[in-house]
Amino acid sequence: MGRVYNFSAGPAVLPEEVLQEAADEMLDYQGSGMSVMEMSHRSKVYDAIIKEAEADLRELMNIPDNYKVLFLQGGASQQFAMIPMNLMKNKKADYIVTGQWAKKAAKEAELYGEVNVVASSADKTFSYIPDCSDLPIDDDADYVYICENNTIYGTKFHTLPNTKGKTLVADISSCFLSEPVDVTKYGMLYGGVQKNVGPAGVVIAIIREDLITDDVLPGTPTMLRYKIHADADSLYNTPPCYGIYICGKVFKWLKKMGGLEEMQRRNVEKAKILYDYLDSSKLFHGTVEPSSRSLMNVPFVTGDKELDAKFVKEAEAAGFVNLKGHRTVGGMRASIYNAMPKEGVEALVAFMKKFEEENLK
Ligand SMILES: *Cc1c(COP(=O)(O)O)cnc(C)c1O
Repeated sequence: MGRVYNFSAGPAVLPEEVLQEAADEMLDYQGSGMSVMEMSHRSKVYDAIIKEAEADLRELMNIPDNYKVLFLQGGASQQFAMIPMNLMKNKKADYIVTGQWAKKAAKEAELYGEVNVVASSADKTFSYIPDCSDLPIDDDADYVYICENNTIYGTKFHTLPNTKGKTLVADISSCFLSEPVDVTKYGMLYGGVQKNVGPAGVVIAIIREDLITDDVLPGTPTMLRYKIHADADSLYNTPPCYGIYICGKVFKWLKKMGGLEEMQRRNVEKAKILYDYLDSSKLFHGTVEPSSRSLMNVPFVTGDKELDAKFVKEAEAAGFVNLKGHRTVGGMRASIYNAMPKEGVEALVAFMKKFEEENLK
């Protein structure tokens, strides 16, 4: 059996150890005589799985007691609506638009209230993070919204915006658990887990308790109220049981690896290998302003569409898959999430060097 080096932006590579463990437990989970896929979400066995997953996540991210952890469904995209429905008390919010996902979130919020785009990097194809130290934050804004790591464009907020005391809401889908985080700086953080944590189908939302109330916009469906899920410990209805179980295994893997400090050390080391090469290459170059670079998603181009396509094709044949850039950007993108080993990045750079030698005119 051959495993490839998978640079997909999501769903993405998972730790091989986790997949192997899940395979071993597939037919009989710890003497229960059944798969986790087959058991009641109200059973004692499953209750232990979801409780342990939450406890491990709290430990990894150092989540304070006054924050709830919710395991939800509907993808990160459903949060684009749930956030305004639950948090827009004054029907006003400020959005910082640094890419497609933030843009979509802002557009969705417009269905529910007044949205002010207080900063944007659309002028340079989202290739940088704007200065957010002194933004025209609205006095009545219910929250300030960011997408912290821009999966498509490969940028990351290395400094959080100055929200002037307003609640910060962040989509952390593609930087989830990639480095330590100070949860107290946010009112809410959330992410679809299929980028850096687990299988598609699970969204994790971490929300400060005072933001979780019954005071939601009129007509908000029961299933889209944070309070309903918080009061039921994410078991209001059937949760994405199997996905949560895999996330729990990834949390244990991260703890075993040394937690988020160690993950950050590894991610910095891995990204440096790729960025250093891109900075020295005469054929390839990165598309992002260096001070805004993401540790997780690395877009690059040759400047020649045909050569880009040739590279993607030859890379795939050599076992480096999913390197094609997002359809809106073109070129290439290597997503080098937690589960991508350093050897994978080193092998990719060796392959790129060889390609450069063969194709540089
Ligand atoms: C992938 C992604 C989304 C969309 O996720 P879905 O689960 O497909 O809705 C939103 N935000 C970011 C940052 C993403 O990377």
